Amino acid sequence: MTWFLRSMGDRDTHHGVVGPDGAVAAACGARFTPRPLPYDRVSLPGYPQDRDQICPACEHHRRTRRPASATWSPTGVSTRARHQFSTGSRG
Ligand SMILES: [Zn+2]
Repeated sequence: MTWFLRSMGDRDTHHGVVGPDGAVAAACGARFTPRPLPYDRVSLPGYPQDRDQICPACEHHRRTRRPASATWSPTGVSTRARHQFSTGSRG
Protein backbone atom coordinates (compact mmCIF):
# COMPACT_ATOMS: atom_id res chain seq x y z
CA MET A 1 0.00 0.00 0.00
CA THR A 2 1.40 3.32 -1.06
CA TRP A 3 0.14 6.78 -1.84
CA PHE A 4 -0.95 7.76 -5.33
CA LEU A 5 -1.98 11.09 -6.77
CA ARG A 6 -5.21 11.11 -8.66
CA SER A 7 -4.80 14.83 -9.23
CA MET A 8 -2.91 17.73 -7.77
CA GLY A 9 -6.05 18.87 -6.00
CA ASP A 10 -6.71 18.86 -2.30
CA ARG A 11 -7.75 15.54 -0.77
CA ASP A 12 -7.00 13.68 -3.95
CA THR A 13 -3.95 11.66 -2.93
CA HIS A 14 -5.10 8.13 -2.14
CA HIS A 15 -3.65 5.14 -0.33
CA GLY A 16 -3.90 1.91 -2.24
CA VAL A 17 -2.36 -0.68 -4.52
CA VAL A 18 -1.82 -0.57 -8.24
CA GLY A 19 -3.15 -3.48 -10.25
CA PRO A 20 -1.79 -5.19 -13.36
CA ASP A 21 -3.88 -2.90 -15.52
CA GLY A 22 -2.17 0.13 -14.04
CA ALA A 23 -5.24 1.28 -12.15
CA VAL A 24 -5.06 2.06 -8.46
CA ALA A 25 -7.50 0.51 -6.04
CA ALA A 26 -7.61 2.90 -3.12
CA ALA A 27 -8.60 2.13 0.43
CA CYS A 28 -11.54 4.53 0.18
CA GLY A 29 -12.96 2.63 -2.79
CA ALA A 30 -11.73 4.93 -5.52
CA ARG A 31 -10.31 3.42 -8.68
CA PHE A 32 -8.26 5.61 -10.95
CA THR A 33 -5.21 5.83 -13.13
CA PRO A 34 -2.46 7.41 -11.06
CA ARG A 35 -0.96 10.68 -12.08
CA PRO A 36 2.63 10.21 -13.28
CA LEU A 37 5.26 11.63 -10.95
CA PRO A 38 8.82 12.73 -11.60
CA TYR A 39 11.51 10.08 -12.02
CA ASP A 40 9.13 7.61 -13.66
CA ARG A 41 7.25 6.96 -10.48
CA VAL A 42 3.55 6.64 -10.02
CA SER A 43 3.50 6.17 -6.25
CA LEU A 44 4.90 8.51 -3.66
CA PRO A 45 8.11 7.34 -2.00
CA GLY A 46 6.63 7.88 1.44
CA TYR A 47 3.98 9.76 3.28
CA PRO A 48 2.61 12.72 1.32
CA GLN A 49 4.36 15.90 2.26
CA ASP A 50 1.32 18.05 1.69
CA ARG A 51 -1.27 16.84 4.13
CA ASP A 52 -3.96 18.93 2.48
CA GLN A 53 -3.78 16.62 -0.52
CA ILE A 54 -4.46 13.45 1.44
CA CYS A 55 -7.81 11.76 0.97
CA PRO A 56 -9.36 11.76 4.46
CA ALA A 57 -11.08 8.41 3.89
CA CYS A 58 -7.83 6.75 2.88
CA GLU A 59 -6.03 8.28 5.81
CA HIS A 60 -8.74 6.98 8.10
CA HIS A 61 -8.43 3.48 6.70
CA ARG A 62 -4.70 3.56 7.01
CA ARG A 63 -4.84 4.55 10.65
CA THR A 64 -7.54 2.17 11.73
CA ARG A 65 -6.58 -0.94 9.82
CA ARG A 66 -2.94 -0.93 10.77
CA PRO A 67 -2.09 0.57 14.11
CA ALA A 68 0.57 3.18 13.65
CA SER A 69 3.84 1.63 14.56
CA ALA A 70 6.65 4.08 14.26
CA THR A 71 5.10 7.02 16.00
CA TRP A 72 4.22 5.66 19.40
CA SER A 73 6.37 2.59 19.80
CA PRO A 74 9.16 3.41 22.22
CA THR A 75 11.28 0.36 21.56
CA GLY A 76 11.05 -0.32 17.85
CA VAL A 77 9.23 -3.60 18.34
CA SER A 78 7.03 -2.61 15.47
CA THR A 79 9.46 -3.61 12.74
CA ARG A 80 8.12 -7.14 12.75
CA ALA A 81 4.57 -5.99 12.31
CA ARG A 82 5.46 -3.97 9.25
CA HIS A 83 6.56 -7.12 7.47
CA GLN A 84 3.18 -8.69 7.96
CA PHE A 85 1.51 -5.72 6.38
CA SER A 86 3.66 -5.74 3.32
CA THR A 87 3.00 -9.38 2.54
CA GLY A 88 -0.66 -9.53 3.42
CA SER A 89 -2.13 -6.87 1.26
CA ARG A 90 -1.42 -7.96 -2.29
CA GLY A 91 -4.40 -8.91 -4.14
ZN1 LIG B 1 -9.02 7.81 -1.03
